[in-house]
Amino acid sequence: MTGLDLVRQVFPDVKDDEADYLLWNHTCFPLPPVSDTTAEDGWVTQLKEYKKAYENLKPGEKLCTCCNNVAVDTSAFRLCLKCKKTLSGERK
Ligand SMILES: [Zn+2]
Repeated sequence: MTGLDLVRQVFPDVKDDEADYLLWNHTCFPLPPVSDTTAEDGWVTQLKEYKKAYENLKPGEKLCTCCNNVAVDTSAFRLCLKCKKTLSGERK
């Protein structure tokens, strides 16, 4: 089973280039997830989490560039509050 096959378990109709993007940008592929599952199951779980977050967006909302939270910073590099604080060096 290829990485693209794994993506198609969650996004059945996705094109090859989109599947490639999803695999490399919304999973930890090619690294194994930190969990007790197999790498393949972990990547599928990460894709399912991304899909759920994406489908729950309200009109005008976008996802954080770094995680599946809703972005609060709508500049080109969209960040959620948690990632914005982390990347700026704030502790809380
Ligand atoms: Zn984030």
